[in-house]
Parts: sequence; C-alpha cells; structure tokens
Amino acid sequence: MENSPDARRAPDAPAIEVRGLHKSFGALEVLSGIDLSVAYGEVVCVIGPSGSGKSTLLRCVNLLEAPTSGTVRVAGDEVTDPDVDIDRVRRGIGMVFQSFNLFPHLTALENLTLPQRRVLGRDKAEAARIGRERLARVGLTDKEAVYPAKLSGGQQQRVAIARALAMDPRLMLFDEPTSALDPELVGDVLAVMRSLADEGMTMLVVTHEMGFAREVADRVVFMDGGVVVEQGPPDRVIGSPAHARTRSFLARLL
Ligand code: ADP
Ligand code: MG
Repeated sequence: MENSPDARRAPDAPAIEVRGLHKSFGALEVLSGIDLSVAYGEVVCVIGPSGSGKSTLLRCVNLLEAPTSGTVRVAGDEVTDPDVDIDRVRRGIGMVFQSFNLFPHLTALENLTLPQRRVLGRDKAEAARIGRERLARVGLTDKEAVYPAKLSGGQQQRVAIARALAMDPRLMLFDEPTSALDPELVGDVLAVMRSLADEGMTMLVVTHEMGFAREVADRVVFMDGGVVVEQGPPDRVIGSPAHARTRSFLARLL
C-alpha cells in the first residue's frame, strides 16, 4: 500500500462517507442531499436514470467536482478540508470512466508505468514489474507492447482498470465502465470487475448492468432526481423494489 496511514485518520472510518451532499451547477441542483457510506471490502452499485446525478456523486468523492454543501470523507479524510492533502487522498482512489482515456501514443505497459513513475516516484524496473503483474491480472499479458488503437474497446478498458490498479488504490470508482462497449465485449470487463470484488476490493460502481449488480453488489443504491430513493441488498432493490420510481426505472431497462 503506497498511502501510509495518517495519524489523524480514524482507523475504523468507512472507505467513503457522504453526508448531506448538495451540488448545484448555477441554478441547477443536481444532488439534493445525498447520504451514502461504503465500508472497506464492500461493493456498492449505483443505478438510476440518465441525469440523476450518479456521475456528479462519483466526481464529488474525489473532488473532481467541489460539493456545494455537505461533507465527503474518504478513509476519514474530509476532501474539502483545506488542510487535507487532496493529492494524497486522490492517490488512494482508482477511477475508471466510460471513455477509457488511455494515452494513445503509449503502449499498454507504458500507460501503466508512466503514472507510477510520475505520481508515485517508482523507478523504471519496479513500475514495469508492477505494470506487468496488473496486466496479467486483467488477462492482457500478451498486449503489453500494443498501442491502444490496436486494442478492442474491452481490452482498452481492461488496460484502464490495470492502470488504476497499478497505483495500489484503497478503493475504486467505476462510472459506467461498460457503457461504451460493443455488447460482446462487456462480459470480459465485468469478469475483471467481478474478480476484483472477489479479492475484496472496495468498489463504488455506477452501472446499468443489472445482472452484475445483482450478482456482485453487496448493496444497490437507486438514485433519481439527485436523491437516493432507496438502497439495500440487490435482490430486494432490483428484485422487489419498494418505490414506484425504482419499479418504473427497472421496467424501462427490460
Ligand atoms: P448521471 O451520471 O446520472 O447521468 P450527471 O451527474 O452526469 O448524471 O448529471 C446530472 C445533471 O447535472 C445533468 O442534468 C447534467 O446535465 C448536469 N451536469 C453535470 N455536470 C455538469 C456541469 N459540469 N455543468 C453543468 N451541468 C452539469
Ligand atoms: Mg453519468
């Protein structure tokens, strides 16, 4: 683990703790009081219609967006506290987006080694060793010298996951990681995510893949209109939702 424990951090703090989170863009309130806690080792899937604020919630967790009010704690650190080293907090968070955002001029392995060297200061040999280990973990050992343009979308997304893993994150945020993929490529990416979950990785995953949410999530959170409408075990929220808004959202997916 690259991020050494901080004396000010409560050892039993949740991985993520969001309290009363509001976020507005100008006059538009996108998040209207979100409370959400994610424990270490937990896999939480966030579902909900387009525009409900799912991406904004994830972006507030690593301060890509600044909350308008409320608190966001990551491993006990309040991300908006000016005394907190936000770069250190961010180093502990792996983020995987819908668009893979690989460096096009770098090979798969170089995409993994560059941030390790720049951000963590690892030497070339160590970064390459860890990079190869992470590529193996996502099943892409044979692609280390290949450039992103020569990889399928699913392979590119697996490189992006391996790149995040190479930074030894404490937790991973996924924002619709399979939404940009051709249907036949979705399964390989979900299989990698499932194996991460099985290994105990803490994961907050925005997804429309109800099968994945149902089988892998410890908890499913349904968001609509900037609020958490309901949350609970996947079989309950997806199988027998309590709210009409959840039912109509799920019905539209079928
Ligand atoms: P979701 O991920 O659930 O589809 P988002 O969090 O992306 O929802 O967006 C929620 C709402 O916030 C949308 O109406 C979107 O247009 C708006 N929004 C998101 N980011 C910005 C921004 N940077 N500036 C203005 N409006 C934004
Ligand atoms: Mg989104």
